[in-house]
Amino acid sequence: MGAFDLKGRVAVVTGGNGGIGLGMARGLADAGAALVVAARNRDKSARAVAELKALGADAESVTVDVTEEASVEAMVKETMTRFGRLDILVNNAGTNIRKPPHELSLDEWRQVLDTNLTSAFMASHAVHPVMKRQGGGKIINIGSMMSLFGASFAPAYAASKGGIVQFTKACAAAWALDNIQVNAVLPGWIDTELTQRARREVEGLHDNVLRRTPAKRWGTGADMAGVAVFLASPASDFVTGSAIPVDGGYSIQG
Ligand code: NDP
Repeated sequence: MGAFDLKGRVAVVTGGNGGIGLGMARGLADAGAALVVAARNRDKSARAVAELKALGADAESVTVDVTEEASVEAMVKETMTRFGRLDILVNNAGTNIRKPPHELSLDEWRQVLDTNLTSAFMASHAVHPVMKRQGGGKIINIGSMMSLFGASFAPAYAASKGGIVQFTKACAAAWALDNIQVNAVLPGWIDTELTQRARREVEGLHDNVLRRTPAKRWGTGADMAGVAVFLASPASDFVTGSAIPVDGGYSIQG
């Protein structure tokens, strides 16, 4: 088997029906993996599955709310029923509520933390016994530039994305001898529904991103495919607990 070959592997991508998740799912499909697109919006997931099938992949959608423990456990169960194995988990589902800390309510804080961080705990917790039994696995957690930096308009989001990096390290250490590699990806500014909304809500964001990004462009879903394949494949078997920026150089200069 080639170092980047994912034939025979089964990947679950939360939030895999659009944006970064679908970009990663396309890459994994291209490398030979079977895909489970796990999100809430059934129509969007059906479109993503059709697209992945058109690439030649075996693909299925599972409706999940990643903030609900029973729903996350059912996602893993349905994957096992349909495919009989689960090799790769991408904890990608995420959200943001853009307000300064003094305007953010506790409910809003919890909504962001539940969706971005607690979800990754619940899904990783649910797949660990499966991966351990299979003799190994790959978990890819999606962080952000806010894993490194703060922003006045993103207190809960920055807390969740900082947390995801530390959670990644803890799982990597705990599960290394189970042959489960756990890594984080820190995307720069990627053009998706999430950031289309951000561009409307945060004045000057578009120009600031272009000014600070050495590559002088926003990233795309396709830019996220290569790192997903690397971290999901045997090529990264000695890489664990890392947080890899995929950001056109955004994080290397102020
Ligand atoms: P999108 O808004 O395009 O995608 C978010 C995805 O998460 C959707 O597929 C959505 O599907 C899913 N989702 C949201 N809430 C839930 C939930 N409760 N249960 C299940 N699925 C859920 O955004 P992006 O592609 O931009 O974001 C993907 C990830 O990348 C997020 O974690 C985000 O924080 C991160 N990120 C994005 C950056 C960017 O510049 N775009 C930069 C850095 C990190 P549905 O609505 O159908 O449930």
